[in-house]
Amino acid sequence: MKSLVWYTDNLRVADHPLLTAACAQGNEVAAVYCYDPKHFEGNNSKGYVKIGAYRAKFIIESVLELQTNLKALNIPLYILVGSPELTIPALVKDKGITDIYAQEVWHSEELNRNNKVFKQLSDEVKIHKAYDQFLLDKEQWPFTLFRLPDVFSTFRNKVEKNLKIPLPLPVPAPMAKTTLQMDAKAKTDNPLQINKWDSIVSEAINIKTDHRSAFPFKGGEIQALLRLRSYLWDTDHVATYKNTRNGLLGTEYSTKFSAWLANGSISARTIYVELKKYEASRTKNESTYWVFFELLWRDFFKCVGLKYGDRIFKSGGILNKEFADGQDYKKFENWKNGSTGDAFINANMKELAHTGWMSNRGRQNVASFWSKSWEQDWRVGAAYFESVLIDYDVDCNWGNWMYISGVGNDPRDRIFDSKRQAQMYDASGSFQKKWL
Ligand code: FAD
Repeated sequence: MKSLVWYTDNLRVADHPLLTAACAQGNEVAAVYCYDPKHFEGNNSKGYVKIGAYRAKFIIESVLELQTNLKALNIPLYILVGSPELTIPALVKDKGITDIYAQEVWHSEELNRNNKVFKQLSDEVKIHKAYDQFLLDKEQWPFTLFRLPDVFSTFRNKVEKNLKIPLPLPVPAPMAKTTLQMDAKAKTDNPLQINKWDSIVSEAINIKTDHRSAFPFKGGEIQALLRLRSYLWDTDHVATYKNTRNGLLGTEYSTKFSAWLANGSISARTIYVELKKYEASRTKNESTYWVFFELLWRDFFKCVGLKYGDRIFKSGGILNKEFADGQDYKKFENWKNGSTGDAFINANMKELAHTGWMSNRGRQNVASFWSKSWEQDWRVGAAYFESVLIDYDVDCNWGNWMYISGVGNDPRDRIFDSKRQAQMYDASGSFQKKWL
């Protein structure tokens, strides 16, 4: 038997149920990651490149680090370039794979991708799937998916009543040396794509980090663990998180875990367990609780995505509400480029365009400005975020956009007063000065 772990948004070796299961079979194990060029040069639902340069760089770094980490376990990571439905079945055939391990997904784009791959496999190949994106154990939810509360506080109260979070799985022990070739070179179904891909990679890798950037993000599981150690143990910033989390400037006002969580370089459970260790041996306070609280928001939006599927991409959102679906192109250019006439909004949008990053406070304000103050199609804003954000996560992005736009999970349907927000969160104007 030969097993193949198909890596997607789970680029790690620790707390990886699929890798653990594949290794437990005691057979030969290989892994694969497939870059689909259409995500790097083609368009998303509103016409922007799906994976812009900042995220592309982060993903490329993450995959390269994963290859090294897997190699230490005697597991080759094959890096493919092309459509997954062509390249992965070809690899399965070529290597005589008998079992494939794939992440569970729930939106049509990912479901279609997976189904197309599975359809091309011979009937003899066994398909194994697992969820590996959640903090909570789906099997132990105190509600069925159908009855998932649509309001976060109800969700939180229910799950906190009987909180059981599974311990993260350890990194599997190294496998016996494999007969599978440790092939580091990118392979493709179409040789013409290799040149194109090389230029995408060199453009992404050579992108300069803006010196004003809030954080020097670098992809990879070890990088994620280093950040975890730094934010908790080395600096104790986690113990003041609740007071700083609405900040806009610097590396330490929030955890910056989101980018690694988004491509699965670290699991939410790994962060949770470290938080608990920190609380037990150093400090337990409102701030340490609040990091957990935010991780619950992440799980909540993932559950909302799981429950409502592609409704999170619809104009009326999960509420099926009437919402303007028009887009004024001039307004969009002004919003995107940071020339709206509102300095606080402009500063945030410039930060995003120059770095792929924006604080949570900034995201709330610019999203409210676009969808509520300017009454523009919220999905255009969400699709732009999808393209540019380094930490883009389908459920967190579209869920938060729905929430802010009044078609999602906010029972109060608020609007942000950006002038007042600027006074509250950037009273000295330093953030605005930095970007304008
Ligand atoms: P911290 O404040 O340190 O929080 C710790 C972790 O909790 C985060 O890493 C994240 O995993 C989770 N978290 C915190 N706030 C939220 C939230 N509101 N919703 C869901 N999870 C949360 N987050 C993404 O990860 N990807 C996205 O694509 C994304 N798009 C967003 C779009 C809009 C319009 C808004 C308002 C928010 C969006 N968020 C998104 C949520 C939030 O802004 C980011 O998770 C957060 O700013 C990341 O910084 P951090 O890791 O330092 O967060």
